[in-house]
This record gives sequence, structure tokens and C-alpha cells, in this order.
Amino acid sequence: MASIVLRDVVKEYGDGFLAVKGVSLDIKDGEFVILVGPSGCGKSTILRMIVGLEDISDGDLEIDGARVNDRAPRDRNLAMVFQNYALYPHLTVFENIAFPMRLAKGRFSEEEVRERVTRAAETLELSEHLERKPANLSGGQRQRVAMGRAIVRDADAFLFDEPLSNLDAKLRGQMRTEIARIQRRLGTTTVYVTHDQTEAMTLGDRVAVLRKGELQQVASPRGLYEQP
Ligand code: ADP
Ligand code: ADP
Repeated sequence: MASIVLRDVVKEYGDGFLAVKGVSLDIKDGEFVILVGPSGCGKSTILRMIVGLEDISDGDLEIDGARVNDRAPRDRNLAMVFQNYALYPHLTVFENIAFPMRLAKGRFSEEEVRERVTRAAETLELSEHLERKPANLSGGQRQRVAMGRAIVRDADAFLFDEPLSNLDAKLRGQMRTEIARIQRRLGTTTVYVTHDQTEAMTLGDRVAVLRKGELQQVASPRGLYEQP
């Protein structure tokens, strides 16, 4: 687990366009924060700066109190869960979940890989499906495999980039419940980007509302609701 702190973070794209205009946000250890706002307001840019896929133009990013502006993505130990899940179609569920450990060559023994995948599959209720391929899974099961991949790495935080936007309404509702349940069970710091008001109001501990690259307000879902 980790705290994530943004201090006056600015993102200027090549052409001088300010996509993020000095955002400050203090995300505590184990907290579930939703970043919500209309398309183009800078949500994805903020997530990509946190994970290290995008440089920060100005300001500071701290993970557990250490400034990480110049730290490579692989040295930040954050796990990003993408909208399209990025699963490998030719690999089984087991191998898809094991993949990050295979990448970290030599760091995990075969026994440890087996142990971690088994434990993640239990948490995510995927134990019955470990030998199947992604094509034979439901959308919700695929989503859980993608989360399994984040879990086995013992990542300090999960970063979700609109993970449910490709699902139909019914499945979206189920997955909302499921993500909230898993996050509570693991207690892992989570930043979750969405443009969906329902997700914003039901999922997190706090909601940060972004508009045109600026934070408009940060409040509990109830706090937001009660404002005029
Ligand atoms: P959101 O995730 O809220 O939809 P983004 O962070 O993707 O917003 O984009 C914020 C703004 O920055 C948008 O106006 C977008 O067009 C612009 N933008 C995003 N990526 C780039 C880029 N690589 N170069 C220039 N402008 C970009
Ligand atoms: P998006 O669809 O959000 O714009 P991209 O398609 O640009 O994202 O993908 C960024 C790539 O960076 C992904 O393929 C992903 O595998 C890789 N990546 C680098 N570091 C990480 C990380 N810490 N977590 C997840 N993915 C990462």
C-alpha cells in the first residue's frame, strides 16, 4: 500500500496546450479515490503521470513520501488496469495472471508463481477457470483476470482507466460491486478514472471532480450529493 500525493501538478503537451493546470491531491494509504469529469478534462493524463507513462511538466508527485517525478514506471510498483483488459488470447487464465511474474525473470520461483496465482484466483473466484482461455470467459471474468494480474505483483496501488466503459449496463453494475468488494478486501490504494456519474457516486471513499484540467472539488460521495 502507498500514499500518492500530487502537488501543483501541471501537464503541458508539446504544442503548449495545458491539459492539467496545477492539480493537488492527497491520496492516503488504502484509500479509494475516483477521478471524474467529462471527456478531455485530463483524467487519463493524470493517471498516466502517476504511473509514469507521461512526464510531469511542473509540480511534484510523491509515492509514500518519496518524490518520483523522474522514476521509471517499473520502479513505481503501481498496477494499471486498462479498459480493454490487455489479456493474451493464446494464454490460459493461469498464465495471464502469472505473466507479470514471468516478466520479472528469476524473481519468483515456479512454486511461488503457483502459490500466488492460486491465492489471487481464490480472492477473485476464478479457481474453476484457471485452464480456460480469455475467449471462453464472460466480460466480468476477464475483468477479474486483469485484476488478478495486478494483485499478484503486490502492487502498492491500483490505477483504473475507465475499466467498465466497454461493458453493458447489467455487467457494469455487477463489476462495480465486485471492484468495491475486492478493493475493500485487499485494502489497496486505488485511483479510478471514470466519466460515469453512477460509478463516481457509488464506488469510492472520495470523489475528485475535474474540469478543463483543474480540480473543482474533492469530497465524499455523500458530500458531493448534498451540495446545491
Ligand atoms: P480525459 O482522460 O479526461 O478524457 P485526457 O487526459 O485524455 O482527458 O486529455 C486531456 C486533454 O489533453 C485533451 O484535450 C486531449 O485532447 C489532450 N491530450 C491528451 N493527450 C495528448 C497528447 N499526447 N498530445 C496533445 N494533447 C493531448
Ligand atoms: P491508454 O490506452 O490508456 O492510452 P496505452 O495504449 O498508451 O494506454 O498503453 C500504455 C502501455 O504501457 C500499456 O501497453 C502497458 O502495457 C504499458 N505499461 C507501462 N507501465 C505500466 C504499468 N505500470 N502498468 C500497466 N501498464 C504499463
